[in-house]
Amino acid sequence: MMKTKKIFVDMDGVLVNFQSGIDKLDAETKREYADDGTGKSHFDDVPGIFSLMEPMPGAIEGVRALKELGYDLYILSTAPWGNPSAWSDKVAWVAKHLDDVFHKKMIITHCKGLLAAQEDAYLIDDRTGHGASDFGEHHIQFGTAPYKDWGHVINFFSELSNR
Ligand SMILES: [Mg+2]
Repeated sequence: MMKTKKIFVDMDGVLVNFQSGIDKLDAETKREYADDGTGKSHFDDVPGIFSLMEPMPGAIEGVRALKELGYDLYILSTAPWGNPSAWSDKVAWVAKHLDDVFHKKMIITHCKGLLAAQEDAYLIDDRTGHGASDFGEHHIQFGTAPYKDWGHVINFFSELSNR
């Protein structure tokens, strides 16, 4: 029997539309977090912001399709160190939107590379940081060609499962 392949799935920019959380903040909070003192925004530090975010287009259907193809799916996400409520908000988000796929299958870490040594493991992540690039060719960089969107990601894993 073929060994089940694992897919680790990032949250922000892959499952979760980060901007949709920013859009729901009141004007004062937006102003406060628009600049961390060095000219960079730090919206991920806003308490409760992760509970406001909407799914990315096609994401909910996308992971369900991957589960249907027989993949073993896990969340692999990083949460801001200085915003502990973000950690619990992320668990609540997954339980609310995708409990059927990720129930008790969630890893929150700043060291994603630790999972790269897993045999037959892939990572869908829009960024290379926090060890994502350690997955090498098994890093499916979401949002970049040829993995522009969930449709393209499903095509890739659909072909892979037929090999
Ligand atoms: Mg991301």
